[in-house]
Amino acid sequence: MCIFCSIIKKEIPAGILYEDEDVIAFLDISQVTKGHTLIVPKKHVETMLDCEEETLAHVMMLAKKIGNHLMNKLSANGMNVLSNVYQAAGQSVPHFHVHLIPRYDENDACIIHFEESEKQDLDALQSLLKL
Ligand code: 5GP
Ligand code: ZN
Repeated sequence: MCIFCSIIKKEIPAGILYEDEDVIAFLDISQVTKGHTLIVPKKHVETMLDCEEETLAHVMMLAKKIGNHLMNKLSANGMNVLSNVYQAAGQSVPHFHVHLIPRYDENDACIIHFEESEKQDLDALQSLLKL
């Protein structure tokens, strides 16, 4: 059984901050930083890429609303808003969720690091990927 579906069904407890018919928001058990929150659609879909558009729009609207609320209440200086898609990207719970990670300074426990890797042919990539 999916752990987030169990939280949604109230079979296991969580620090729920907000709930409506379609979406729930609760405190992440790991609290990477103070106030780390997950926004989760109640209907089980594995990733953001599987989520129907109306639900996704609702999740992102709440990410904005709850994100602003956390920023104000916790006096955070920034926030990472992210969703890991599949294990290769670090997804550990296969039920779509958006992380809200309030940031206090660059040396807090949330480490997200982008490094330049091998050079790509941007023109070739653009022709391959253009929609
Ligand atoms: P992912 O790695 O899939 O992007 O994120 C899953 C998140 O779910 C992790 O940050 C993890 O701490 C959180 N998590 C896993 N199990 C539970 C749980 O039982 N309760 C709560 N509140 N969070 C959980
Ligand atoms: Zn689920």
